[in-house]
Amino acid sequence: MTHPFLDLPPLSAERFAAIEDGVARLLGTRQDVLITQGEALLPLEGAIRAAAGPGTVALNVITGPYGQTFGDWLRDAGATVHDLSVPFHTAVTAGQVREAFAEHPEIDFVSLVHAEAATGNTNPVAEIGEAVREQGALFYLDAVASVGAEPVLPDAWGVDLCVIGAQKAMGGPAGVSAISVSERAWARMAANPNAPRRSYLSLLDWKERWTDAGRKALPHAPAQLEMLALQACLERIGSEGLETVMARHRRAARAARAGAVALGGGLQPYVRQERDAAPVATTLRVPSGVVASQVVARALESDPALPLAAGGGALAKEMIRVNHYGRDATPGAVQGCLAALGAALAEQGLTVDPAAARRAAEDAWR
Ligand SMILES: *Cc1c(COP(=O)(O)O)cnc(C)c1O
Repeated sequence: MTHPFLDLPPLSAERFAAIEDGVARLLGTRQDVLITQGEALLPLEGAIRAAAGPGTVALNVITGPYGQTFGDWLRDAGATVHDLSVPFHTAVTAGQVREAFAEHPEIDFVSLVHAEAATGNTNPVAEIGEAVREQGALFYLDAVASVGAEPVLPDAWGVDLCVIGAQKAMGGPAGVSAISVSERAWARMAANPNAPRRSYLSLLDWKERWTDAGRKALPHAPAQLEMLALQACLERIGSEGLETVMARHRRAARAARAGAVALGGGLQPYVRQERDAAPVATTLRVPSGVVASQVVARALESDPALPLAAGGGALAKEMIRVNHYGRDATPGAVQGCLAALGAALAEQGLTVDPAAARRAAEDAWR
């Protein structure tokens, strides 16, 4: 008997190229798009090591844990790095980016995370992109947690290196990712003697052996299952409509935020201003004396399928994450999380109003 995962015909170069084109359409980009055969960390690291080197002066914006990682890679690549850190409960502004340029006019590379699923904030990339263009710097963007949840427009925003992964709002596989690369970014990589070549991290290898060669033959065996899953995911977004998918995420975030406030029990939105809150996930701060990871564990006991997590690392004590993305960007998932959190908080002796939370989330969804 043939197995649906194991006994597949080979994935053709033509099909691989068509899936790449599907990603390019999703991003509305005319830049080269490469699908990368691994989780999003692969193109995120590959792009930094290719585009940055000892001559690079980077502005690394830190609004969550990924920004810290990018700074490490940039320093590792020999770049001079100026970190611009903002508290995780807010977003960076174009004004702050401009101030950094004024202070360090030699900045020629900017790394930014669009939305942070880990901290629940989102940054105004369109406005920041304008500042980066005026500066003439290369613009690197991690859009893994924003794509599918809010607009991601590399061409309109002047993003030179835009990385996406399918595993968040796209509701797709985690083992494959993609990057759009501008002409300027390719030129920067080509001029960098330290850019990875003949390496799994190398974007230049793929450009030479795949894109520039007319996409006729794949350089390596493709991650076939992930590619098929990515294609299915693009088709599903296509049939629902990207605008509808994004609206679902926006509504889920509004409902989770309003519902948590109405629930009470000392729960507060972690991201203070609603405009800085990411559509992909809502983070909540627990009152002092309550341990977020314990509340989450209790809530998950009642329903292990709920998209709830505690914050990562040091945030595990104070932060609850409602990961209402992909298939979970629904009223049911948000209401389920609010009900389970309410019950877990009530067990700890806190006063909650689950009915008010339900009504507030319902109203906010509309
Ligand atoms: C989820 C995410 C990634 C991908 O990392 P994982 O460790 O696979 O979750 C990268 N960047 C951002 C901003 C993300 O939210």
